[in-house]
Amino acid sequence: MKNAITLALVALALCPVPALAEEAEPKWSLAIHGGAGTLDRAEMTPEKRAAYEAALQAALDAGRAVLAAGGSAMDAVKAAIIPMEDSPLFNAGRGAVFTWEGENELDASIMDGRDRSAGAVAGVKTVKNPILLADTVRTASPHVFMMGKGAEAFAAEKGFAVTPPEWFATPARREALERMKAEKLSALDVDLKFGTVGAVALDQSGNLAAGTSTGGMTGKRWGRIGDAPVIGAGTYADNRACAVSATGWGEYFLRVGVAHEICAKLRMAPAAGAQKIADDVMAEVAALGGDGGVILVTPAGEALYSFNTNGMYRGRATSAGVNEVAIFGGEEKASTTPDH
Ligand code: ASP
Repeated sequence: MKNAITLALVALALCPVPALAEEAEPKWSLAIHGGAGTLDRAEMTPEKRAAYEAALQAALDAGRAVLAAGGSAMDAVKAAIIPMEDSPLFNAGRGAVFTWEGENELDASIMDGRDRSAGAVAGVKTVKNPILLADTVRTASPHVFMMGKGAEAFAAEKGFAVTPPEWFATPARREALERMKAEKLSALDVDLKFGTVGAVALDQSGNLAAGTSTGGMTGKRWGRIGDAPVIGAGTYADNRACAVSATGWGEYFLRVGVAHEICAKLRMAPAAGAQKIADDVMAEVAALGGDGGVILVTPAGEALYSFNTNGMYRGRATSAGVNEVAIFGGEEKASTTPDH
């Protein structure tokens, strides 16, 4: 018996340890959202659900292709957000909500967790993919945040085409503004869901990135800007902690500094775990009266959600085989942590 144990130990010592071999394998993670809010189950027809799920899956696939091929987290975040900006289903780019004055004003931000370089734009009206302009602010200007006409002048200088307002305007969003005015509703009552889009990624080199893009909230006026383009509120990425993108009632996310708060807590007290920390920060948002949700990825490859609404358009994919899209709470089938 003793000999058998000795032999087994010797054999173990000589064989390559599978766990180590697996750990050396490439590892990546991605999570996306297409907005959180009070989603009406009765209104979610099978056709509507299929359309949202297909759009989320397309975004997830675009980001996944970048990460699986060894591309950067920054490129994956942009690749996932662009199709959602181009889809009329989401409140970003095409399909953005209308301002009180009947225009579409777009906000976006992006952050690289490797060096915490960041770029953001607010109130742009003629840029097809605001996430790309935000990234150009990051890479080709000495600034982090540009707004309105100045941001558009910068876009022109950097070769962005001028996209006509008709591209962004959809009948459903216009009707929402008209109903809001006619019935004196709040943006929350008329929207039913928020529809902002975002993505967070961990790439095979261990770098994190986050991005968020939105049209804001229906009927916004006086140059109102929400959390989505504000680094630290709607978007944050730090290789030491996590990458976060938020969606929800922006004023509350600004007041809590949600994305930075989650990353800072995780950096300073990682033992609590990313899910608990995200849930705690979302509970703070709820305690103040706000609602919405976040997506995050961690350096360990976790891809997580936390939201205090009944639904959030969302999806996640990892190198460990997780691949899911979901709409209402509790629809997940897969595990959240890649086993390695
Ligand atoms: N957070 C966005 C804003 O307040 C709205 C959203 O997430 O849909 O502008």
